[in-house]
Order: sequence, then structure tokens, then C-alpha cells
Amino acid sequence: MRAEARIDLDAIRGNIAAVRARVGSAAVMTVVKSDAYGHGMVPCARAAREAGATWLGTAVVEEALALRAAGDTGRVLTWLWAPGDAFEDAVRADVDISVSGLWAMREVVEAARAAGRTARVHLKADTGLGRNGCMPADWPALVDAGLKAQADGFVEVVGLWSHFACADEPGHPSVPAQLAEFTAMLAHAEGCGVTPEVRHMANSPATLLLPQAHFDLVRVGLVSYGLSPVPEVGGPADFGLRPAMTLAASLAGVKRVPAGQGVSYGHSWIAPRDTTLALVPTGYADGIPRHASNVGPVLVAGRRRTIVGRVAMDQFVVDLGDDDAAAGDEAILFGPGDEGEPTAEDWARAIDTISYEIVTRIGVRVPRVYTGATGAAAAGTASTGTGAP
Ligand SMILES: *Cc1c(COP(=O)(O)O)cnc(C)c1O
Repeated sequence: MRAEARIDLDAIRGNIAAVRARVGSAAVMTVVKSDAYGHGMVPCARAAREAGATWLGTAVVEEALALRAAGDTGRVLTWLWAPGDAFEDAVRADVDISVSGLWAMREVVEAARAAGRTARVHLKADTGLGRNGCMPADWPALVDAGLKAQADGFVEVVGLWSHFACADEPGHPSVPAQLAEFTAMLAHAEGCGVTPEVRHMANSPATLLLPQAHFDLVRVGLVSYGLSPVPEVGGPADFGLRPAMTLAASLAGVKRVPAGQGVSYGHSWIAPRDTTLALVPTGYADGIPRHASNVGPVLVAGRRRTIVGRVAMDQFVVDLGDDDAAAGDEAILFGPGDEGEPTAEDWARAIDTISYEIVTRIGVRVPRVYTGATGAAAAGTASTGTGAP
């Protein structure tokens, strides 16, 4: 093993159970975009289904089609579309499609016509995020287009939804403003005759902090993987969550160097005294941020250490002082934290980013190794009709 990301599928199941306990009758969508935030899409999707996620969410259609290719037959919503995207493949694969504007409605209608089947669409409202979604001024036209396409038999408008800008900042005035706008946009659509199966707005932070935003369905990415989206409010354990990813590597070398030894490109760190250095064979190609140079935390030889010198493409160096270690010993970059190892949140703090980015960027050169029940349990759940792959 040079390096590996160990993914605890039992933790993912437990995290989804914790979400279900929190949201009562609302359904749970586990967001598995970007290879399940770096955890591996298909195994995580299976674990999520087993734990009762009746929906999966993907950003792009290729992800949804990969779920279908892996045998998932449950509800999947995909929300980020560009003109010319594979709408017809999505309709044929029974993927729910988010529509934020008239051009997308036209493409969905064409796709449904070509596929000879009805497309399920979720109309997306921009209630204040200022990103994807239909602005309130354009909403009546989009609702009309949806109802017209529904009357023509091409689509079924099954969802009305939106996304928060600042749900991770308790007390931010945009939160009640977005809820009020969503309520108004729902009322307009329902007043026009839309009868949504699901109205949904909550991401991970809103799922944890804003019960009034749960509506019929919550869309949880980060908390499914056991990380806290609101570290200032609480860590994973405070919300009944357990981080699912442990990133480990084998030391590729340990050596004694004299005081004055410069380390790695640019010699941004120079040994202040005779010391022992350990070489960790992961670098920015593996998703270790170069900004972690001289600040990233790593557990080596039983203690937390700090990266010294620059993170290179394939490797970085840790200062062990006078402690002993040998090539082949394990370094833990991050994990749940209960063995003294840093967490993804510690990495995020060290380089001024969010834990989402730390786990999502772990590269394809790092194999994912799964722990926790797999296989038999997945097959068993397939027969319950919940759409387990
Ligand atoms: C990524 C994403 C989510 C999940 O966000 P988390 O904070 O990770 O739960 C939910 N909804 C949309 C539209 C997203 O793009």
C-alpha cells in the first residue's frame, strides 16, 4: 500500500440513519455527485440505499447514468445541465431532471418526444442563491411551460425546489428571506395547478439546523459522509455523525538529516537542528493541497506532526524530530480522529478551506478501500423494492 482512502460504509449507513431520525417524515436524498465527495459513488450509493435514502442526487447526467449502469433503480435527481446534454438518455434511464429555465424545458420536451416516454421534472427556483435556478420574475413563465408540457404528456412536474446560500451561517438574514421567497414561489406554482410530489430546499446545514426547511425531502451530501457542515456550531459527534474517510499512506523513507538541511522545492523549510524526516508518498496529484505546505497535519509514529517544506506532486515530508519510524510505517493524514489522527476539518482549517474540498479532491491515484458490510447486505436490500442497486 502506497496510499489508500479507507471508506467506512457502516459510518455512511449510520450517518443516514441519524439524518432520518432528525427529519421525521421527510424523505432523504443522499447527494453522490463528484464520486460521492471523493468516497466512491457506487459503493456509497448502495450503502445509502440500504440505510433508507430513497433518493440519490447527482450534479451531472453522466453520474446518474453511471448509477443506472451499476444497477440502481431508485429515484435519482440530476440538476446541472447544459444545452445539448444527454437529456434523452436521462429520460430513457428514468432519471428525474431539474429544470431552471425555458431552454431546458424545451430540451426535456424534445427528449421525452424522442424517447416516447414522460420525463419527470423538478422546477428549480432561485430564491436568493444567485446561481442556478429560475428568478422570481421568470417563474410564472417557467411554471406555465411546465404545465403546458405536462398537459401535452411530455413531462410530469413532480418537484419544486431551491437551494440555500447561507444555511451554514445561523442567523444570516438571507435564510428567512429565502424561505419566504420559496413559500411564495411554491404558492404560485401550486395555485397554477402544479401538484408536486416533493418540495425540497435543505442541504446538509439546513437539515441539521433548520427543521422548517425540511419540507418533503432533504438533500444531504456532506453529512452522509460524516463531516460537519457547520464546524463553528458542532463537530460530527455533536450531530450523531461519523467521518467515513480515512486517508493513510506508508512512509516511503525515513532519514536523519543535519541542521541546515533544506527540504523540498524552494527550501521553504530548513531543519533548525539535526532531525529525522519521514517521506509520505502522496502529493498534490493525489489531492493533498499544495497550500498545506508547512502547515498540514499528519499522524506519524503515534504523534501529530506538521508537513515541512512544499507539498510536491507526488510526495511531502514530515519532521519527526528525534522520534523513530521506519519505511513502511503508516501515516494517517486524516480520519474520524479517535486514534489521535487529524480530521478532514483540521486540514480544512489549516489551509483555510472547507472539509468538502479536502475529501472531494482526493485523486484517482488513491485507491478506495471499503470497510463495513458490503455485497450480501446490498443484495438483500435489493429485494425490498426500495430501489437498491
Ligand atoms: C451539493 C448539493 C447539495 C448537497 O450539499 P451538502 O451541503 O453537501 O449537503 C444539495 N443540493 C444541491 C443543489 C447541491 O448542489
